[in-house]
Amino acid sequence: MSRRRPEPIRERVPLSRYTTMRVGGPARYFAQVGDADLVVRLAQWARDEEVRWVVLGEGSNVICADDGYDGLVIVYHDPAAQPAIETTEDESATARVVADACLPLANLARWTARHGLSGLEWAAGIPGTAGGAVVGNAGAFGTSMADVVLDAEVVRSGGRARESAASLGLAYRTSALAQEVGPLAVLRVGLGLQPDDASSCLGRLEQFGRARRRSQPGGPSSGCVFRNPPGRSAGRLLDQCGLKGHAVGDAVYSDRHANFVINRGNATAADVVGLMQVGREAVWRRFGVMLEPEVRFLGGLTLGRLE
Ligand SMILES: Cc1cc2nc3c(=O)[nH]c(=O)nc-3n(C[C@H](O)[C@H](O)[C@H](O)COP(=O)(O)OP(=O)(O)OC[C@H]3O[C@@H](n4cnc5c(N)ncnc54)[C@H](O)[C@@H]3O)c2cc1C
Repeated sequence: MSRRRPEPIRERVPLSRYTTMRVGGPARYFAQVGDADLVVRLAQWARDEEVRWVVLGEGSNVICADDGYDGLVIVYHDPAAQPAIETTEDESATARVVADACLPLANLARWTARHGLSGLEWAAGIPGTAGGAVVGNAGAFGTSMADVVLDAEVVRSGGRARESAASLGLAYRTSALAQEVGPLAVLRVGLGLQPDDASSCLGRLEQFGRARRRSQPGGPSSGCVFRNPPGRSAGRLLDQCGLKGHAVGDAVYSDRHANFVINRGNATAADVVGLMQVGREAVWRRFGVMLEPEVRFLGGLTLGRLE
């Protein structure tokens, strides 16, 4: 069945504008929205038209291929979205906060701290949306979304449902959602936070923000490109292989933090993946450790096999 194309869909939109690494070719179909019902309509349209689809948030953990994505990219990212305190005070005095998944995580962290709700202060300054943070189980300073997520509303081809934290399967920088083969959209996120003094929450938020600014390189990037192997630091392993400052094209391992690849101007996705491959091979040859990507690839990118 062919339906009228929903209003916000545009064609051949360069994904480099919608990723923090600033690489990626055109999406065949593209829509940026901040309304959960519209995400559902777009997903239905794609299903009816037999067009594959994917949801991105702020594009801060994704590398899109240079030849783009032959389907519908729904960017569910709205910096102006507002969370809501739904209910408070169960026996553990946990406050339930519900946020549309399009809300930036850092805004949510500031909003909750201002409302005297503790649990997300570590997220000060982390790019990305609440939805992306659930899918990748974003975290910092020893804490992660897994510590605060109660549930999420998810839509797949089959319909819309609220899923408990247990079924979301949040684990180190991944989730059961991230492992699914079929497309899905996280629409809303429910968080359990602890009431506390607002000025204490804001103090912790500022502290985490300062620590992040001290350690994090500037420039277009996707954050850490590799996951830390058990008990090891991917950044340290790359550094020990002498890779700080090493470049492929315009993609370069940061001088400050070797697990950050920076786009120093005109990097392509092929440069970024080529540089990741160099790092992966060097660490494998020297330490026998296989680094696995923390960034997600969109549109047919993969790292080559190592023997
Ligand atoms: C400078 C910098 C610093 C960073 N520091 C950290 C850090 O300290 N800790 C950390 O964990 N990460 C960090 N990151 C990585 C990134 O910020 C997080 O992974 C973030 O949670 C990604 O959110 P996003 O909305 O940008 O997701 P995207 O990059 O847009 O998408 C990531 C994945 O999630 C999926 N996805 C996104 N939104 C949805 C949705 N609503 N429904 C279904 N699927 C969705 C996408 O399909 C994709 O597979 C950093 C990145 C940068 C650039």
